[in-house]
Amino acid sequence: SVRVRFAPSPTGALHIGGVRTALYNYLFAKKNNGTFILRIEDTDQNRFVEGAESYIEEALSWAGIVPDEGVSFGGEFGPYRQSERKDIYKKYAQQLLDEGKAYYAFDTPEELDAMRDRLKEARVANPQYNAVTRMQMSNSLTLSPEETQAKLDAGEPYVIRIKLPRNEDVRFKDVVRGWVVVNTATLDDKILMKSDGMPTYHMANIVDDHLMEITHVIRGEEWLPSAPLHIMLYQFLGWEAPEFAHLPLLLKPDGNGKLSKRAADQLGFPIFPLNWTDPQSGELSVGFRETGYLPDAFINFLALLGWNPGGEKELFSIDDLIDAFSLEKINKAGAKFDIEKAKWFNQQYLKFMSDDDLTDQFIALLDFEIDRDRAQRIALSLKERVTFVQEMPAAGNFYFEQPNEYDSKIARKKWNEEAASKLMEFATELRQQSSYNKDSAKQLLVEVLERDQLPLGKVMPALRLALTGQGGGPDLMDIVEILGAEEVYNRIDKASE
Ligand code: GLU
Repeated sequence: SVRVRFAPSPTGALHIGGVRTALYNYLFAKKNNGTFILRIEDTDQNRFVEGAESYIEEALSWAGIVPDEGVSFGGEFGPYRQSERKDIYKKYAQQLLDEGKAYYAFDTPEELDAMRDRLKEARVANPQYNAVTRMQMSNSLTLSPEETQAKLDAGEPYVIRIKLPRNEDVRFKDVVRGWVVVNTATLDDKILMKSDGMPTYHMANIVDDHLMEITHVIRGEEWLPSAPLHIMLYQFLGWEAPEFAHLPLLLKPDGNGKLSKRAADQLGFPIFPLNWTDPQSGELSVGFRETGYLPDAFINFLALLGWNPGGEKELFSIDDLIDAFSLEKINKAGAKFDIEKAKWFNQQYLKFMSDDDLTDQFIALLDFEIDRDRAQRIALSLKERVTFVQEMPAAGNFYFEQPNEYDSKIARKKWNEEAASKLMEFATELRQQSSYNKDSAKQLLVEVLERDQLPLGKVMPALRLALTGQGGGPDLMDIVEILGAEEVYNRIDKASE
């Protein structure tokens, strides 16, 4: 059965590209009744950042991407944190050493630098630590087993490197990219175990994917260059490799270059799912959650960044996404990140929100007490006019405060003696009614105007101006109903001064 993993390194906040990787893994697992695993790849102790792991879990949980197995989720294949699996990697590194598929390398940093310089002088186009150069780069391979042992016994620092064949084609079929063929002559003898005894990403990743019985590796395109090495490792360890699907890059809105955190900052939109304060720099990065995106809207938007189910349909609930998802429909080309599209999705999902949810969220944003029924009517009147619930208090401010200023252009064009006196007449009669609603209020306004054979259009802009100070906004009769006759009267009176 299908088993997939999202394997972030806790080196900072989760970038939006990471959330997309998690989402595609999740959708693929759910679609196939499989298992979605969260594995923490924390073997690079220099880049470890406090709080990043819990940030990752919180971000995924906000987005609704819930793992079946992982550090906080249990499972039979743990531990799910690589720093707790050190002994496992050692065992397989030893196996590779014993079979001559890996070797100890004792090169000091100075020796490596000197070797690189020599290769540069010799104008080697793409210097690698490989079969061609390793003999010169390192004395490791010319050491006899006894000499090697002596160095180990003497406690000389070493790394363990993979011993790639000199000239061999590595091929694999990527679900997104098709066949990939790379010759080992262009690859490095990558380090598998570091001098601190920790595995590198490559070693730990392959061992864990195998032991955790991962069937499909779905990850960002930046890992494509590492895939041939991974294939070699699977071969060397005698294991069957999983299937690979490398996801397209996220591009800046104009398609010009990669979407980095910096690019997003410059363009002024969020790139992290949650706000994140970098513990080192103290710098705050804005998140989708805090900006006011609804998780379902965010997920819908994200799913379509690099995956195209075909057809016109754009609005997909999470169940729709699971239903429609397939790796074959992932695009090769980079996906342009268009924040306007994200906003559009949010607007759509805001409309789908239940009245209760909308009212709850609206009330939570207000810093004063409000009657729930009134809050609900205000929220409903505003909901089609905003992109985020967060915008509602400001957009509906006129409900709570009389206007202090009036849009001068509208005032010049639409406010006149006649309109003012008709509106006073209307408000006076409205006040006399024991109760009214938007329909009967409108009826009354029509009647008042008919006495002078005036059309509605003659006073509507003036009425809106008097009530809100603005030229546009929610349905005018909704406003009349919500404000109440007394307030309507007062505002018209005030505007007439
Ligand atoms: N730890 C890697 C990362 O941070 C995982 C790459 C992979 O999925 O193989 O992206």
